[in-house]
Amino acid sequence: SIFSAFVTDMTTERTFIMVKPDGVQRGLVGEIIKRFETRGYKLVACKMLWPGQDLLKKHYAELSDKPFFPKLIAYMSSGPCVPMVWEGREVVKMGRMMLGATNPLQSNPGTIRGDFCIDVGRNICHGSDGVESAKREIDLWFQPNEVAKYESHSKDWVYE
Ligand code: UDP
Repeated sequence: SIFSAFVTDMTTERTFIMVKPDGVQRGLVGEIIKRFETRGYKLVACKMLWPGQDLLKKHYAELSDKPFFPKLIAYMSSGPCVPMVWEGREVVKMGRMMLGATNPLQSNPGTIRGDFCIDVGRNICHGSDGVESAKREIDLWFQPNEVAKYESHSKDWVYE
């Protein structure tokens, strides 16, 4: 209808998911992508990037006072990462559930962290914790022209 352009389409919510250096080194990029793909979410941006300290300090600015911050920056800058943008209904909240708790010892089996890691400082992937932080993180890691706009041919088989 004429009003549809003004209604928020929940299927276009976006989250920022990133495979961390340990996830890349351990060959878990495909596994992590597979879980979001098979769930029905749509991949709209993806690249490999070895992040520098400046970018990581911006990304984790909220944690700069934490005692683990220097170790976190060293860990995250230790190798290439695979940042991605995933799109779909409630993908921010679902992405966090699919990742599991921050500390993998508290992540349920069946979650990405709960299936593939043990230590909090080696928890293989990042996921935005809210819609606003997702927007901020997507803008920080991607240029607008790196985020694809397209319609999935499965759209009507995933959403009713
Ligand atoms: N982290 C850590 N020690 C801690 C808490 C966090 O090394 O005690 C690391 C961990 O890799 C985590 C990241 O810092 O993923 C960011 O922490 P945050 O609390 O934002 O957790 P997340 O949103 O990644 O689940």
